[in-house]
Amino acid sequence: MARYTGPVCKLCRREGQKLFLKGSRCLSTKCAIEKRNYPAGQHGPNRQFGRGRTSDYSVQLREKQKLRRIYGILERQFRRYFRVAQQHSGLTGSNLLTLLEQRLDNAIFRLGYAESRAQARQLVQHGHFNVNGRRTNIPSYILRAGDRVEVREGSAKRTYFKQVRDFAEQSTPPEWLKRDIKALSAEVLRAPERVEIDVPVNEQLIVEYYSR
Ligand code: SF4
Repeated sequence: MARYTGPVCKLCRREGQKLFLKGSRCLSTKCAIEKRNYPAGQHGPNRQFGRGRTSDYSVQLREKQKLRRIYGILERQFRRYFRVAQQHSGLTGSNLLTLLEQRLDNAIFRLGYAESRAQARQLVQHGHFNVNGRRTNIPSYILRAGDRVEVREGSAKRTYFKQVRDFAEQSTPPEWLKRDIKALSAEVLRAPERVEIDVPVNEQLIVEYYSR
């Protein structure tokens, strides 16, 4: 599946807030938002957020773009997630977030095996993980309750994964994932709930965007 390959910090600057797309750099003083918190481009510094008239449409659009960028998904696939979320019972916005959160690359990020979702995606694509004992290199794979995610035996011997144990230990995985850091494995206990998904978006605006 295609992915965005352009400049990343530009996306945060467009949204006017940190989307944490680059791992440790996002927490450093090198973060572009710390230095230039305005959209990129010639007229960027003159475009201030929330100034002048803001239409409902533009607010909804920005919210949708923000969520898409946080999870690193292109429009067509994102729209597909929205359609699936609509078909499930319950609130469409919460369903959408739950679906995105259950992606394999996101779970790897949440488990602390990668600094960012983009890095997690690359690790998955390079085939470092087994899901239920089978090599899975599809970042968009949707995990279900009872699924088991493991670092593959050969990969676990690599320096990266030896070091991962140390930096993953500093993070706490969400409650819907049960991590065994020693074995570099995890079990999906259940689907994540909205309150456990810490992304700064108002999903209702995204529902309104697609309901126009
Ligand atoms: Fe966004 Fe991270 Fe770049 Fe800062 S360093 S602008 S948070 S991607």
